[in-house]
Amino acid sequence: MKRVIVVHYDEVALKGGNRGYFEDVLMRNIRVGLPKGVAVTQEWGRMLVDINDQAVVSEVLNMLSHIPGVATYGAGVSLSRDELSDDHSVIDELGKMVTSMLQECEVWSTFRITAKRVDKGFNIESNVLEREVGDRVFEHFKSVGESKSVSLRNPEKEVVVEILNKKVLIYIKERGISGLPVGSSGKAVALLSGGFDSPVAAYMLMKRGVRIVAIHFHGMPHTSEASLDKVKSIVKVLNNFSGEKRIKLYIVPVERAMKAIALEGKQSKLRLILLRRFMNRVAQEVAHKVGAKALVTGESVGQVASQTLENMRATAESVDLPVLRPLCGMNKQEIINIASEIGTHDISVLPHDDTCAMFMPKSPETKAKMPEVREALKTYDEDTLVEQALSDMELV
Ligand code: ATP
Ligand code: MG
Repeated sequence: MKRVIVVHYDEVALKGGNRGYFEDVLMRNIRVGLPKGVAVTQEWGRMLVDINDQAVVSEVLNMLSHIPGVATYGAGVSLSRDELSDDHSVIDELGKMVTSMLQECEVWSTFRITAKRVDKGFNIESNVLEREVGDRVFEHFKSVGESKSVSLRNPEKEVVVEILNKKVLIYIKERGISGLPVGSSGKAVALLSGGFDSPVAAYMLMKRGVRIVAIHFHGMPHTSEASLDKVKSIVKVLNNFSGEKRIKLYIVPVERAMKAIALEGKQSKLRLILLRRFMNRVAQEVAHKVGAKALVTGESVGQVASQTLENMRATAESVDLPVLRPLCGMNKQEIINIASEIGTHDISVLPHDDTCAMFMPKSPETKAKMPEVREALKTYDEDTLVEQALSDMELV
């Protein structure tokens, strides 16, 4: 009997001819997150992490909970088939093993057993195995005065028993974030502010296998160093999900662009749109530089006055690359809930100097008209501003 962590992936396996490629990317992302000396192997559509040292289990489980592409994972044991009986007494043996596994878990009251029989030569059907092993576990806890019950639909502990051709795996299943492994869907440049939305947007794309390169525009010296640190902390949190490589963060000063744009008629209602167009253009240049195929923003339709369909069109019109807005149909609370789950909420909630808010005219345009935007663009040289921004840009 060996201690293992079993990893399953769902969508990855659906990719037909590309399956091997997706598995390789997932495997690489997992391997990079493992402590030194811990090995992972791939066996029959699942991955097994060998646990020689019990002390690393919680670290590895935590890592797996952050890896896109991991559908389920769980710590348990792997036995060779000849360690178990060939007759019905296997039910007692499995019952004992599952019971002792559950005894190690804290605070739970409902459970279920899920059996998967890959080897049809095993003479007990899955549903019989589930029921009978479940009975043994139930009876054990009852006999020691603990009331535990079976919940097939929503158990607090789901113990999986997989009967494979040569092995049996028994583990307590947890849900991963699913999706696709980062790096399997190419790259995109994410425009990261310090707010709630853009980190969630970047995460959503990572969950679809996209490697993120981040860009942040700061208004220093008018904005603080602390605001910049906030963005760096957000990137650190996003790194947990990124597998193999760390996220690159480009930082770009916007003071010069703001000055140029502001000259275009005091308090022009188009100011913010013009600034966001400039940001998109700089981000697009970065995309070309790093081989990214799209931009990602945290825009959500109607969330603020600037995020109308007309304004989204006016800001995105400055670039050829697709501008992905994974939050476009989400409510603020839904976005904040995801921010809490992924760990960016507590950073985003800190005060910061918002470059866009600073630049907000008294009455901002809510329905930008392209002819007016084009007129405004004639009053300054956007190309040169983009070039200058690129030469001022730093990689953190
Ligand atoms: P967030 O919560 O992400 O700050 P928001 O609701 O404040 O978004 P806006 O300020 O209109 O919305 O910005 C829309 C999007 O533009 C952001 O989600 C982000 O992708 C991008 N963006 C805005 N400001 C910056 C910045 N200073 N640096 C990089 N990207 C930015
Ligand atoms: Mg913002």
